[in-house]
Amino acid sequence: MSELADPTPLSELTTLGVGGAPERMLVATETDDLVDQLIELWQTDAPWMVLGGGSNTVATDDEIPGTVVLIRTRGIERIATDAGVVLRVQAGETWDDLVEYAVQHNLAGIEALSGIPGSVGAAPIQNIGAYGQELSSVLLGVELLDVDTGERSHVSASALGLGYRTSVLKRHGGADADRDAVVLSVDLLLTEADDGVGRPIAYAQLASALGVELGERVELMRVREAVLALRRSKGMILDPDDRDTCSAGSFFTNPIVPEAAARALPSDAPRWPLGEPDDSATVIPLDGSSDIIAPPPITGAVRPHVKLSAAWLIEHARIERGFHLPGSRAAISSKHTLALTNRGNARSSDIAALARFVQARVQAEFGITLQPEPVLIDIEL
Ligand SMILES: Cc1cc2nc3c(=O)[nH]c(=O)nc-3n(C[C@H](O)[C@H](O)[C@H](O)COP(=O)(O)OP(=O)(O)OC[C@H]3O[C@@H](n4cnc5c(N)ncnc54)[C@H](O)[C@@H]3O)c2cc1C
Repeated sequence: MSELADPTPLSELTTLGVGGAPERMLVATETDDLVDQLIELWQTDAPWMVLGGGSNTVATDDEIPGTVVLIRTRGIERIATDAGVVLRVQAGETWDDLVEYAVQHNLAGIEALSGIPGSVGAAPIQNIGAYGQELSSVLLGVELLDVDTGERSHVSASALGLGYRTSVLKRHGGADADRDAVVLSVDLLLTEADDGVGRPIAYAQLASALGVELGERVELMRVREAVLALRRSKGMILDPDDRDTCSAGSFFTNPIVPEAAARALPSDAPRWPLGEPDDSATVIPLDGSSDIIAPPPITGAVRPHVKLSAAWLIEHARIERGFHLPGSRAAISSKHTLALTNRGNARSSDIAALARFVQARVQAEFGITLQPEPVLIDIEL
């Protein structure tokens, strides 16, 4: 049942630990009820938002206007098909519980996505990815409730505009999504691994941790354990005893720029020419004030783009791990340059000030504007 809850501050419901209380809060534990409640909400013009695990949301400390709906719906249904096993999973399931379930049931395809916090329903919003796997490679489709029509429909993954940390459902920064809808459930097509081994290892650091070559296949549980260990070493597994994990994960996406812009960077700047299947990506434009001018479009040809390392850019803009502004409780993680962390009692304004500082330094040094990865609620960078 959906129920009205006393509004809890978002500082207690988000992993970064900032954010004020909403005017009103609903908790939805059943999908049909979630639908009824949302449709009722949409009949008024009052603001609303949904929240899963709060691990990709950074909200203002001011009161959040309107209603926050916490999605806590549960259920994993297994459907056998000729192509493989489909798992239909309700939006409120915890992502990492689902990965554990898949690994335990010898289902391959998401083992390298172990340890990512948050809910299943939010996974397509930014097409989660890590260690050489991305949701888009196993996502068949989602059930959506569209805000404009109030209708439920099954939508195939190809209609979701999935790219590098993006989809048509994502509210980039605080902007409106291209498609305003709530994910009710997610269908994943996984491979039944009778031999217990996963998909080919596609990430050099993971291959090295496992002591295998890239492209080798390894037991699902070994992959999961290796990924969890790597993530823990970077503060990327939630741990109440480790302040470095009090973050929204990577705060900035890796910029994607025209090849000509990448050529202007120092030769040791890491760069990955795009074109690999899991890199079909949204192009993040260089800031208008940049000195680097993108080449004109070449008619009839695809202009090459290059993905850069946001972590390298930050470090080479002379911002070190652990860095914080004077008197601020927000700091760069001591383990991971891309994570902005709350060292205890940080305000949303501390996080925003640190993010702006990082952006300004990288912009001044390299002419590239880093884009935030989390969804920002009433916060401007
Ligand atoms: C320590 C740490 C490590 C991380 N590592 C990774 C990583 O390796 N790779 C990666 O891709 N991400 C990573 N993230 C980011 C985050 O975990 C993912 O983006 C995750 O999918 C967010 O899920 P959530 O339920 O917490 O989303 P929330 O923060 O609750 O919501 C995020 C956005 O999605 C919307 N939303 C949530 N549920 C729904 C729904 N059912 N329908 C429609 N909209 C919805 C919300 O309104 C909000 O706009 C990391 C975060 C942390 C804190």
